[in-house]
Amino acid sequence: MAEHNFDLVVIGGGVAGYISAIRASQLGMKVAIVENRGTLGGTCLNVGCIPSKALLQSSENYHAAAHKFKDHGIKIDKVSFELDAMMKRKAGIVSKLTGGVEFLMKKNKITYFKGTGSFTDKNTIAVKLNEGGDEVLKTKNTIIATGSEPIELPMAKFDEKNVLSSTGALSMEKVPKHLVVVGGGVIGLEMGSVWARLGAKVTVVEFADNILPMMDKDVIRTMKKVLEKEGLEFHEKTKFTELKGKGDDLTVVAEKEGQKIEIKCDKVLVAVGRRAFTKNLGLDKIGLATDKAGKVKVNGHFETEIKGIYAVGDVIDGPMLAHKAEEEGVACAEYMAGKAGHVNYRAIPNIVYTWPEVAAVGITEQEAQAQGIEVNIGKSTFGANARAMCHGETEGFVKLIADKKTDKLLGAHIVGPNASELISEIVIGFEYTASAEDIARSVHGHPTLSEVIKEAALAVDKRSLNG
Ligand SMILES: Cc1cc2nc3c(=O)[nH]c(=O)nc-3n(C[C@H](O)[C@H](O)[C@H](O)COP(=O)(O)OP(=O)(O)OC[C@H]3O[C@@H](n4cnc5c(N)ncnc54)[C@H](O)[C@@H]3O)c2cc1C
Repeated sequence: MAEHNFDLVVIGGGVAGYISAIRASQLGMKVAIVENRGTLGGTCLNVGCIPSKALLQSSENYHAAAHKFKDHGIKIDKVSFELDAMMKRKAGIVSKLTGGVEFLMKKNKITYFKGTGSFTDKNTIAVKLNEGGDEVLKTKNTIIATGSEPIELPMAKFDEKNVLSSTGALSMEKVPKHLVVVGGGVIGLEMGSVWARLGAKVTVVEFADNILPMMDKDVIRTMKKVLEKEGLEFHEKTKFTELKGKGDDLTVVAEKEGQKIEIKCDKVLVAVGRRAFTKNLGLDKIGLATDKAGKVKVNGHFETEIKGIYAVGDVIDGPMLAHKAEEEGVACAEYMAGKAGHVNYRAIPNIVYTWPEVAAVGITEQEAQAQGIEVNIGKSTFGANARAMCHGETEGFVKLIADKKTDKLLGAHIVGPNASELISEIVIGFEYTASAEDIARSVHGHPTLSEVIKEAALAVDKRSLNG
């Protein structure tokens, strides 16, 4: 058994892990990364952000060709698609990106161990190699970046054929006839959109009062209307209680405001959230406890209660998002090297890649009310925007929330084409403590979708020009 010495061992090669490894290496540390999936990039690149966005884009293109091109005067007699080709394209993108991360490890002189890492003691990581055999890594510091896994419900255990987690929903071999999605959050709506566009009937069952429960109420109202037009059906305030049948003959039993409902279907996607993953890590060997939700507890510098052991990404508290994981990875390595790290949790955008997209940062109008903050609100619609008209994508709006006294931006909520890209302007604004007036007086190119943001900023001061 070989023994190696490192300044830092990162356990988990997802976004949080590989980014922290790169930053630590840049800062002069001798770094190793341990990942057991067989490829780097974690959930995001392998079974999360990237494959879902690849399928969203393919299904969106198909849907546009079938339903929207005619508005542009483009005639296609018969539009069809090959699911197999879409899946191959998705797999190609994933493989290119995960291969790219492996290249980055080499470029940054990071030693990559393909295997499962666990603590023997606070300075020793045992690696069970995927190909057989063991390695022992002696280290000054360790970052736990082991991510999260989908939550499984006892009455609907994943078989990934008919009862699916998000991973199964990304690789179905044929379009389901009727897909029931349990959970109307981001993943449920994105995957529901993909399969609805490709021809499945999609029914979403959501326990909370609304789909996208954390979003601003205006966003929820608009998105529900748009997705219903796309064919999705919603049962809100509905508790999934039982799954009957087997194979393609399934019945979802649920309770909707006291009434029992039954929905026949051939596939069920359970998308009720994810939980931190710390199995097989040997946390008991070093006496590191997790919180009630199974998350690793850290201080403001991402250090656990054990000196030299840090944690970042989905495995710690906060939104389970790749860009949050990445920022924490960078900041953690910087703190470790004695530098000033920086993660602005107020400025983490939350994005839903449906069409139109949703992107939000900061507080909602309802949160402002609940916190007793007096605000001014400015709203502008894509329906009044020239570029959106040229695109033929006029659904949605920008809503900006600013402090009544100071005009400081507190929240931004966008439903509309390319909302995922547009929100970056506001995120940068948040970094610089921008006011609505700062956005309103900034020149926005014409004609662009971003002019809706400027109009909304003008509307905060009740002086919109084009809306
Ligand atoms: C369908 C889906 C779509 C998503 N879309 C988006 C999106 O569009 N935008 C966004 O920001 N976020 C998205 N997310 C969330 C995003 O994927 C996660 O927030 C992100 O991957 C978290 O990164 P991480 O590095 O903390 O953990 P992970 O990516 O989960 O990586 C942890 C890695 O550690 C490995 N590991 C665990 N234990 C061990 C061990 N003991 N030894 C060795 N290796 C181990 C795991 O195999 C895994 O590869 C999506 C998630 C899903 C499921």
